[in-house]
Amino acid sequence: MSGDGGKISLIGLDREALKSALIAAGVPAKSVPMRVNQLRNWIYVHGARDFAGMTNLAKDFRTLLESSFTLGRPEIVTAQLSQDGTRKWLLRTGAGIEFETVYIPESDRGTLCVSSQVGCTLNCRFCHTGTQKLVRNLNPDEILGQLFVARDALGDWPSTAPDRKVTNVVMMGMGEPLYNFDNVKAALAAVTDGDGLALSKRRVTLSTAGVVPMIPRAGSEIGSGLAISLHAVRDEIRDVIVPINKKYPLAALIEACRTYPGASNARRITFEYVMLKGVNDSLAEARDLVKLIKGIPAKINLIPFNPWPGAPYECSDWSQIEKFAEIVNRAGYASPVRTPRGRDIMAACGQLKSESVKERASARAARELVGETAAREAREPGPVDLRERSNAASTSERPGDAMDMLQSSQLSRMPH
Ligand code: SAH
Repeated sequence: MSGDGGKISLIGLDREALKSALIAAGVPAKSVPMRVNQLRNWIYVHGARDFAGMTNLAKDFRTLLESSFTLGRPEIVTAQLSQDGTRKWLLRTGAGIEFETVYIPESDRGTLCVSSQVGCTLNCRFCHTGTQKLVRNLNPDEILGQLFVARDALGDWPSTAPDRKVTNVVMMGMGEPLYNFDNVKAALAAVTDGDGLALSKRRVTLSTAGVVPMIPRAGSEIGSGLAISLHAVRDEIRDVIVPINKKYPLAALIEACRTYPGASNARRITFEYVMLKGVNDSLAEARDLVKLIKGIPAKINLIPFNPWPGAPYECSDWSQIEKFAEIVNRAGYASPVRTPRGRDIMAACGQLKSESVKERASARAARELVGETAAREAREPGPVDLRERSNAASTSERPGDAMDMLQSSQLSRMPH
């Protein structure tokens, strides 16, 4: 994102790019290495939001920075707080570029669920994001911007503080991270940089629906934990619910996991398995799952299906989830059943979606001619979204907007 008035955002530039930017802005070459260190410290350790507060930098230098660069964050469109403490922000970085990020506090950690794309190309049948066509890939500063917004809101600076609120990052928001490889890689390099945001690679997980050719590169070039959205153990079923399976079937996916660089008992691959009633939840499938992943250091996350308006599936019965988990457990795999978090604000797995749509050429022309209002009308109508939009930067502390679509019988069976 180029920020205010065409200024360049320094967030997300690696050392080399930052060097070049400073040189281009007229900073004397011999002071550039020192300036890079100072700036990175302010940006990534202290979360500086402007240059004026960088008190150890000469005033002239600060003025120069101010005139060429920005440390701006994405704009907060809505901020919501769930009854269970989960937070969701809808962010915007340009006309029609809106995406969501979710913070999930737990007793021993705080996880930020980060989006990699606006919309998605994958069309997984049970996923709400899958009903939103891809608008575009997010840039490194937009991916990182999600962490900055969350840490600003949570008062989670500096990065060296002992009790960090965001301790884990999962690339499990909107989009397929391995279809936006370079930008995700650049953003995660900043997230794990020891002199900066300083999260251990062990606390960063990238989740993929199975872009098989990119999995080895994710291992060797990003080196984070890997999660696979498996969801079915037979190609006939996976072809339907995770259509990328038609391109990269189960055998190829499992082989990529077996050879994933760095997988070990200490660094197990996570297999995510959404529990869809009558679709993929038979006990025979539980047994086949165990066979399928035999020999791979793995854990299995069973995710109760999170409903959304118009979803064609139901969540498995709780008793069935328990039986399924028991089979997987007895085979020696940890198989925690994920407690749904933030369902009341549509922040749970697979519920994220924004209203952004890719503009048709006609809409773009209309916007350029007569402004944004006309363009909105010319856009394709999207599926109904229950989320209430509040004013910019406001916080809706009123949970429950989307609660009525959950069946109470289903909720009562969930572990809270
Ligand atoms: N495209 C990547 C990143 C998204 S991660 C991937 O597929 O892995 C989001 C996770 O939530 C995925 O495991 C996805 O399959 C799961 N998910 C999607 N919709 C869901 C729903 N309605 N209920 C529960 N989990 C869902």
